[in-house]
Amino acid sequence: MEQLGLAGMPTRLFSCTPSKLASFAECPRRYRMTYVDRPTPPRGAPWAHNALGATVHNVLRSWWLLPRPQRTPEASRKLLREAWISDGYRDAEQQAAAKELAAGWLERYLEKVDPGAEPFGLERTVAMRTERLAVSGRIDRLDDRDGEPVVVDYKTGRSALSESDAAGSQALALYALAAARTLRRPCQRVELHHLSAGEVYTYVHTPERLERHLRRAEATAADAVEAETAFKEAGASADEAFPPAPGPRCSWCDFRRHCPEGQAAAPAKEPWAALPSGGE
Ligand code: SF4
Repeated sequence: MEQLGLAGMPTRLFSCTPSKLASFAECPRRYRMTYVDRPTPPRGAPWAHNALGATVHNVLRSWWLLPRPQRTPEASRKLLREAWISDGYRDAEQQAAAKELAAGWLERYLEKVDPGAEPFGLERTVAMRTERLAVSGRIDRLDDRDGEPVVVDYKTGRSALSESDAAGSQALALYALAAARTLRRPCQRVELHHLSAGEVYTYVHTPERLERHLRRAEATAADAVEAETAFKEAGASADEAFPPAPGPRCSWCDFRRHCPEGQAAAPAKEPWAALPSGGE
């Protein structure tokens, strides 16, 4: 995708999702293996915590699609059984424990939700573009609070969160900007709904703060375009253009087996090690 830049030269418009931007910012090598290399190198085994997170997301989407009288906290149990994704677990016993845990999260969460509310969208795709990037993404839930769109992101991880996570999330800020563009109304409130902790963390952005998030996203996009151009057109090696950024996260990287630096930086983990119970 190209458009004319200020000097009349073609400028690459970077098409991305928030997770693609985050991937480059966190580790250019992982970004290359995810988005540039084709075919994509084989990934490691699926993670149980990802399966659990996807299951819970699917249950919540299905719950909101139920007819209004059926939206009860107890209804989530049946949806959970139907939506269950079994990837990555050690055995049936571990799955049963995780299922029971998730059932509790969902029931406690849904007890506090107004079942009569009708969101603007569930897993709604929103998009926007600037001179440098075209960003799109799917919002877990886009609430309608008296006409004001609110970005809701579900979290199921075991790490503690806080309001600063909502404030600092580039993904949430880009979703808010794209939701405003898509719905043609201001959108400044973002929320992390941390189901495993039973907490909601809210942040209301100012336009200036959203603008700062956008400028940072554009800077990352420019770096990614530069790396890809160096690799594909200027003869840079893969590691020159996309250096590894080893660290603790390498334990959880899907491409760890292709990355000696990552293997040296952090130990391998069992596929179920990040379950909320620690896999026990
Ligand atoms: S193992 Fe670590 S350094 Fe290697 S690609 Fe993955 S995140 Fe990057």
